[in-house]
Amino acid sequence: MEKLPELKYSYDSLEPYIDEKTMILHHTKHHKGYVDKYNNAIKETEYENKNVIEVIKNLESIEESKRTTIKNNGGGHINHSIFWKLLNKNGKKQPEGKLLEDIKNVFGSFEKFLEEFKKTALNHFGSGWAWLVYKDGSLKIYSTLNQDNPFMKNEIPILGLDVWEHAYYLKYQNRRNEYIESFFEILDWSVVEENYEYALKGEEEKIVY
Ligand code: MN
Repeated sequence: MEKLPELKYSYDSLEPYIDEKTMILHHTKHHKGYVDKYNNAIKETEYENKNVIEVIKNLESIEESKRTTIKNNGGGHINHSIFWKLLNKNGKKQPEGKLLEDIKNVFGSFEKFLEEFKKTALNHFGSGWAWLVYKDGSLKIYSTLNQDNPFMKNEIPILGLDVWEHAYYLKYQNRRNEYIESFFEILDWSVVEENYEYALKGEEEKIVY
């Protein structure tokens, strides 16, 4: 069984970049809904005592009648758990160390990384997520549909941006580009650096929990 994680900050502390009302709805209604529906689906099954990452990585082994519910809601729970931890108005504004070096090696520069990530998030059609992912010793950027995530293809997310309209519509309406810019104002790069270390060590559960 999974729990809705508590946030380490108050709902109004990301203002004006993400407004209090959006945070309350997003955490207590959307994320809680994913947790409740996921728990309901795994109740009294062999998945009840496994952590959600293990379950989501083995979707093909789940009986067909429950697979979509577990995928969507387990994915939603993982994705939002990662997302909340990345946010902090007083966080670190730029990566350093190995993460910065590897970003430069893969994308050319930090600025080029930002450009590609923002473009991916902006151009994603419909609901989904934009990710920075660790896979086989390298980094890549891509987006996924709905509540899908990199774990579902055995890759490790170290940075994720929710581009569902529920994440920004109250404040930004159709202006997803402004929401994306705001995200980078409150993204704490020290958490992305930590996530990268966990990914390199194979401690992926620490990225989620
Ligand atoms: Mn969301």
